[in-house]
Amino acid sequence: MSIQVKTKERVAVVDVTAQVEEAVPDDVEQGVCTAFVPHTTAGVVVNENESGLLGDVERALDRVVPRDGGYEHDLIDDNADAHLRSMLLGESVSVPVVDGGLDLGTWQSILFVECDGPRTRSLDVTTASA
Ligand code: ZN
Repeated sequence: MSIQVKTKERVAVVDVTAQVEEAVPDDVEQGVCTAFVPHTTAGVVVNENESGLLGDVERALDRVVPRDGGYEHDLIDDNADAHLRSMLLGESVSVPVVDGGLDLGTWQSILFVECDGPRTRSLDVTTASA
C-alpha cells in the first residue's frame, strides 16, 4: 500500500504515524511493518513529534549539509543537498506490529522528511506477518 505525502515547503517534516498505522492490514496481529520512501531526495525516520525538535531537525540538516555547498550534482540538477540529506536520514524504517498495532515507544512517531519539496510523494507501507 502506498501513502501520499503532500508538502508546501522545500524542507518539511510530516508525521505519518496515523496513515502508516492505517495501512497495517487488519489480519496482521504480530509482525513487522516497513515504511519505504521510493525517492532519492526524501527520507523517513522514527523520532519525537515535538515542534521545537522538528525545527531543530531542519536547522541541523542545514548546518550539516548546506543548501549551496558547491556540489557537483548541482551542475546538472540543483538539489544535491536534498540527495545528501536523504542519505543521512535513510529511506526506510521498520516498526514491530504487536496486537494488531504499531509497537512504537511513548515518544516515537514515524516522520517523513521532505528535502526537495514542495511536492506530493509516495511512502510504501508493507507489513509482514510473523
Ligand atoms: Zn538530483
